[in-house]
Amino acid sequence: MKKVLLLKFGELFLKGKNKKDFENLLVGNIRKKLADFSFKLAFPMGRIVISDYDEFEEDMIVKRLTTVFGLIGVSKATELKADKDEIFNFVSTIKISGTFRVNAKRADKKFPLSSMELERELGAVILENNKEAEVDLHNPKYHVNVEVRFNDLAYVYYETIKCAGGLPLGSAGKALLLLSGGIDSPVAGYLMAKRGLKIEAVHFHSYPYTSEQAKEKVITLAKELCEYCDEIKLHIVSFTKIQEQIHMNCDSEYMITIMRRIMMRIAEKICNQNDLGAIITGESLGQVASQTMQSINVTNSVVSLPVFRPVIAFDKEDIVEVAEKIGTFETSILPYEDCCTVFLPKYPVIKPTIKKAEYQEKFLNIENLVDVALSNQEEIVLTRE
Ligand code: ATP
Ligand code: MG
Repeated sequence: MKKVLLLKFGELFLKGKNKKDFENLLVGNIRKKLADFSFKLAFPMGRIVISDYDEFEEDMIVKRLTTVFGLIGVSKATELKADKDEIFNFVSTIKISGTFRVNAKRADKKFPLSSMELERELGAVILENNKEAEVDLHNPKYHVNVEVRFNDLAYVYYETIKCAGGLPLGSAGKALLLLSGGIDSPVAGYLMAKRGLKIEAVHFHSYPYTSEQAKEKVITLAKELCEYCDEIKLHIVSFTKIQEQIHMNCDSEYMITIMRRIMMRIAEKICNQNDLGAIITGESLGQVASQTMQSINVTNSVVSLPVFRPVIAFDKEDIVEVAEKIGTFETSILPYEDCCTVFLPKYPVIKPTIKKAEYQEKFLNIENLVDVALSNQEEIVLTRE
């Protein structure tokens, strides 16, 4: 008999070879996430079991596990032999005052009692040993969960702590997040990582128009995302010269449109150089002039990779809610400027057209600007603090 952590994972797409890959990736991600703890990991069919850890570190381990994509829940459990007497003896020691129900899952059909029989008989054992206990199947105060698994072991636990859900990090490939210092883009990165995308990020800054702290803020945000995303390579690209050139040569109402188109071109090049299959932004429809349907069309038209905008249909409050949950909100609201606020035109165009944007771009040497920006980029690999 020992204390363990019982982990549940999603089974939605688990078939054939995909299933093995998914599981191997998930287990690898868990090991990486717990690299600074000592523990053992077992993988009986349908569950993952963490054991032999320092009991004082249990809560820290659980907290870490809640940030692993692909895991649904973690339970602090007692591991027993899948032996009828051993299970009944253990359950007879459980102290309960109040309402309860037993939920049994007999995965291994070799075990002599069915799930229903287990529930009924173990319920009776608890009632016998606890004068204050009472069965309530609908709204019990305590759930006594008993699982008989295929590894000739059984698990008893009371609670399941919710984990991040989604798909294992890396199972969907790799993509590039356009990371500003705002509230939306970190949330966009988190949401796509949750669907299995490993993330790299690019940040454009306009030093000295924007401050050194503005850049530090984005590095902090990327580190905060690493809680979930493990490791993020951050590409830091100077946008100063590009903005000056746009400011000098293009119509001010098209300034942001052209900026965005150049950001997208640079992003696509970074993707191609780093084997990243998509671009991610924190755009939300109608939030500002550059996020109207027409604006999005005009900026999207310069790239051929897919662009994921997971918060496109979110209200600001919905985005803030996620930002608070994942711990990026407090950093995002620090008052440092973004490069998009430098040379900001009074009246940005709300319904730009591709034709007019292309006309404005004739006054710039875009290829050269993009190449210079890329060749001067700084790259930092960030990890969890
Ligand atoms: P955010 O809260 O993410 O900054 P926002 O509501 O301020 O978004 P915009 O400033 O219009 O909106 O930016 C839209 C998206 O463009 C951002 O979500 C981000 O993906 C990308 N973006 C904007 N500025 C930058 C930047 N300086 N570096 C990298 N990406 C940027
Ligand atoms: Mg912004």
